[in-house]
Amino acid sequence: MTKYIFITGGVVSSLGKGLTAASVGHLLELDGFKVAILKADPYLNIDPGTMSPFQHGEVYVTTDGAETDLDLGHYERFTSEPLSQTNNITAGSIYNTVLSQERRGDFLGATVQVIPHITNEINRRIRSFEADSSLDFVIVEIGGTVGDIEGLPFLESIRQLRNTLGPKNSLHMHVTLIPYIKAAEELKTKPTQHSVEKLRGIGIQPDIIVCRTEKNLTEEIKNKISLFCNVDHDSVIEEIDVPHSIYELPLFLKKEKLDQIILKKFDITSKTRNLPLEKKWQNLFEIIKSPEHYSKIAVLGKYIDLQDAYKSIYESIVHAGFSNRTKIEIVRIDSETVTSSNVSEILSSVQGLLVPGGFGNRGIEGKITAIQYARENALPFLGICLGMQCATIEFARNVCGLEMANSVEVDPQTSHPIITLMPKQHTVTQMGKTMRLGSYSCDLDPKSLSYKIYQESVINERHRHRYEVNNDYLPQLKESGLRIAGINSLNNLVEIIEIPDHPWFIGVQFHPEFQSKPIKTHPLFDSFISATH
Ligand code: GLN
Repeated sequence: MTKYIFITGGVVSSLGKGLTAASVGHLLELDGFKVAILKADPYLNIDPGTMSPFQHGEVYVTTDGAETDLDLGHYERFTSEPLSQTNNITAGSIYNTVLSQERRGDFLGATVQVIPHITNEINRRIRSFEADSSLDFVIVEIGGTVGDIEGLPFLESIRQLRNTLGPKNSLHMHVTLIPYIKAAEELKTKPTQHSVEKLRGIGIQPDIIVCRTEKNLTEEIKNKISLFCNVDHDSVIEEIDVPHSIYELPLFLKKEKLDQIILKKFDITSKTRNLPLEKKWQNLFEIIKSPEHYSKIAVLGKYIDLQDAYKSIYESIVHAGFSNRTKIEIVRIDSETVTSSNVSEILSSVQGLLVPGGFGNRGIEGKITAIQYARENALPFLGICLGMQCATIEFARNVCGLEMANSVEVDPQTSHPIITLMPKQHTVTQMGKTMRLGSYSCDLDPKSLSYKIYQESVINERHRHRYEVNNDYLPQLKESGLRIAGINSLNNLVEIIEIPDHPWFIGVQFHPEFQSKPIKTHPLFDSFISATH
């Protein structure tokens, strides 16, 4: 029978619960098990697709085109099972389903309530994974912190599930903070005691407590947590800040025997250990310790202040650092600050420029100016989605001589709409889930650099956009030297542009960052970083 691990968070947000869930998944995969991980988000948006990155960080897109929480990115990078829409539940989507059922009359006159109707729907979604009988574990991460009003239906659901499934098939893991008070030189357990008290008030007794801490937990602290929170002593797990890389976290949790404690609670033993995976993962840290190269990479966008807004991009660069044995310093540049008079000063000290995706017109001119510098100064350039669209505009303006070239997203009246709305988007009236989303194929030009990099003639990549390169301008762009290196032949849509007489200049309409993993760097990121040293 499928075993369930329910993960809740206590005391504060941003504890790295998602990374903990992903690491638990990773450890169980090392033990030979098949694992699914899902995130339950208590907010009322149907999905995060309509939320600003300032509110929510990156929107992570799965192969099937779901716009999901960025924790799913951690899950895909740490574990091997592909994810889809079913791996991200939101309160909004739960209410949406139940309210449509109510309008259809499915409840036959009953009063529709949080318990049982909302909780039943949450339980149904969580248990839908059992359809795959080969699945050993389902890890369920509940978003937010215990004590949030909107999280209550989810906590009630996992309370009920523990009751239905029984203690041999389910367990509760609570991730909490043990703050260090500098003045007293002491770690404090009281916030954790309160958080567990709150959980118990809802009817949930944690089986394992994972303690986020900046200092090692002493035996005394572990004893205290064990005693006051009513958990076994060996189930108080230290999760100390990892020194170099988030990818070290599974190794730290393994040292704490977290996987063995989980298996013991379920009364099962490891299957066949996945030794090749374990070896590959451990090798990453040998590479970190002895890099052979050094590169400074500029990431230029408008959400630069927010660590989470370009999460998968930053992680993909880290992966490329592993595969290239390169220590990479990322320089974050706010595109609004770049002008033609300061661009060379800003970019002369970096070895590569990456312009990520984005929406709206803020900071566009700064991006175009920076891309012009990269093109003219042989600086390796990778443009992603909006970054690729800006590169096409720059080329049209400064090489083809179409001075007024622009995207209609930025200037709807432009006389040269180099980037235009995709035909299917003209009839769109709602913002949610209406972009071109998910995985689509792209045919590569055999003469292109991209073909050399991918070593394949047809690739599949994930998308999230409404605008495209205007095919009417292709003859002019090509004549001036732009290479259309990849197209989606079904929709006759430009997917990749290159500048052949530049050492490394590629723009892609898709998001390669969603398919990069620490032990399998995405080929574009791998090649981009190798071009920078
Ligand atoms: N705003 C652009 C579009 O919708 C680019 C989107 C993106 O970068 N993800 O086409």
